[in-house]
Amino acid sequence: MRAAIFRGVFDIQVEQIPDATILEPTDAVVRITHASICGTDLWPYRGQGPYQPGWQIGHEWMGIIEDIGSEVQSIKPGDRVIASYDFCDGTCEFCQKGLDSACLQGGLWGYGNEGGQAEAIRARFADATLVALPSSVEADEALLKAILPLTDNMAAGHHAAVSAAVRPGAVVVIIGDGAVGLCGILAAHRLGAERIIILGHQAQRLALARQFGATDVVTSRGEQTLPEVIEMTGGGADAVLECVGSEEAINMAVNMTRPGGTVGFVGAPHGSGQIPLGRMFSSNIGLRGGLAPARAYLPELLGEVLAGRLDPSPILDVTVSLAEVASGYAAMDQRHATKVMVRP
Ligand SMILES: [Zn+2]
Repeated sequence: MRAAIFRGVFDIQVEQIPDATILEPTDAVVRITHASICGTDLWPYRGQGPYQPGWQIGHEWMGIIEDIGSEVQSIKPGDRVIASYDFCDGTCEFCQKGLDSACLQGGLWGYGNEGGQAEAIRARFADATLVALPSSVEADEALLKAILPLTDNMAAGHHAAVSAAVRPGAVVVIIGDGAVGLCGILAAHRLGAERIIILGHQAQRLALARQFGATDVVTSRGEQTLPEVIEMTGGGADAVLECVGSEEAINMAVNMTRPGGTVGFVGAPHGSGQIPLGRMFSSNIGLRGGLAPARAYLPELLGEVLAGRLDPSPILDVTVSLAEVASGYAAMDQRHATKVMVRP
């Protein structure tokens, strides 16, 4: 089978690798029909963070079951399934608590494990990791495209909003106009936020932000941004969704939060990790979030998409074939695309 392989900085190749097969009785083999490139895939692509040449890449995917191991019970060949970006056993202490991202036997697709930008994949812990989609979605390409972001980005946006305790009537600031920030708007809107202020710079993304429910757009840069938001909100937002991960972003998030409010952070931290504890102390600002438990959120968010109440599909603005996957990375790297869908 063919799969996307990380060969080095700015070098993603599609190569022939051994076919996906059942290795454990809890495995399934899935033929991948839809995958996508995540903003975090760009880190190794740009040479940030450890990723070894030869590793498969891609952690966002869905497809059709081709084969199952002897212990798999919840799915059968022919079923269409979606996976969360993290595989998990479904049985450990943390899976039981709905924190699959901390599963004791879990991990991420790619990163030395099987990757999702491929023709097929060996899905570990199939019963726990995969969620079957109703057969009604089968011929509905628009609906499938709306479901795909639930693998990761929509779960992260939702996690940011839940972690920041967004409540009906809340004033919310979203830091980051990438796919996760845009999904954070959908999540905040869904949880009843009254005012949603997005910080970003790209006209196309900010237009989509408005479409998703943002009420205000802030495009200023650097030291101008904080006083602007403080003034707009009369002292800060109830909830700030930090969807970037840089030290500047987390500092801005804490400083934009109203006393007693909460920052929901889902941007993977890169930088020295300094946070303004003094401001958090003096103003009782909470900081929650982290790696989203996407598998735990899947049933709820899937229900919303199937009911027509949630549609993150516009974040997928470019589609490529597996053979063209390298061009998808380049498009996202050069910001010609917000997010790329891959059709193996
Ligand atoms: Zn577990």
